[in-house]
Amino acid sequence: MKLPSLHKYPLIWRKDDFFIKIYCSIPNVATGILLTTSKTAFIIDPGDGILRDLNQDVGPETILRVSDIFISHGHHDHIGGVWSLLTYLSVLRRKSPLAIYFPQGCVEIVSIYNAFKKVYGKELTYSIILKPIADEKSFTKNSVRVKPFSVNHRELSPDGHSSIKIPSLGFKFTYDSKSICYGGDTAYSENLIKYTKGSDLAIIEAGAIDEESIELHMTIEQASNIGLTAKEYFLVHVPE
Ligand SMILES: [Zn+2]
Ligand SMILES: [Zn+2]
Repeated sequence: MKLPSLHKYPLIWRKDDFFIKIYCSIPNVATGILLTTSKTAFIIDPGDGILRDLNQDVGPETILRVSDIFISHGHHDHIGGVWSLLTYLSVLRRKSPLAIYFPQGCVEIVSIYNAFKKVYGKELTYSIILKPIADEKSFTKNSVRVKPFSVNHRELSPDGHSSIKIPSLGFKFTYDSKSICYGGDTAYSENLIKYTKGSDLAIIEAGAIDEESIELHMTIEQASNIGLTAKEYFLVHVPE
């Protein structure tokens, strides 16, 4: 099979005012994604570097417009930028509440939130609303339909000999009859296949480096086969 050529970051896709920019998605390093419409701005998976990238690229005005953060799972390469982002919003004297959506059972986000409240609670200029997602019900935020769906991601035990399933989600965002499906980190997943199909854009991880890691991630071949069922797709999270 002919493999698609891999793009360089940032990856950008736009249909009218429906816009997404992937600043980075490198396994064990960082992921960082901005999704905007004329009415809203979301951050998806604020990994390390997201504040620097956003500040450089779109600046404080757009950062203040962010209404919601979507977390696919608690691995550090997807949440490493949460602390600095939350701090910076207070520096900017944000007033409106910020919602953080994450898979129920994701202890990392709850722990960061609790520690953050302990350190900055008194001086915080805005409220943070944690929104654990326990089911796959769709909801609408600022005219964007959000469909969370569970995927199939695991982490290795400390000795590296076994793995456990962790709470992990993909998200399908639909706006103005266009859709973007982001699978987060996942091994082969029937849900990802279902929600990718027919999407205007699919963002699919291809993080497997060898046969052993296909329990955790997908190979480029698996990811491409799923991506091809969307109108366009990006392969992300490919080891560098
Ligand atoms: Zn990852
Ligand atoms: Zn992961």
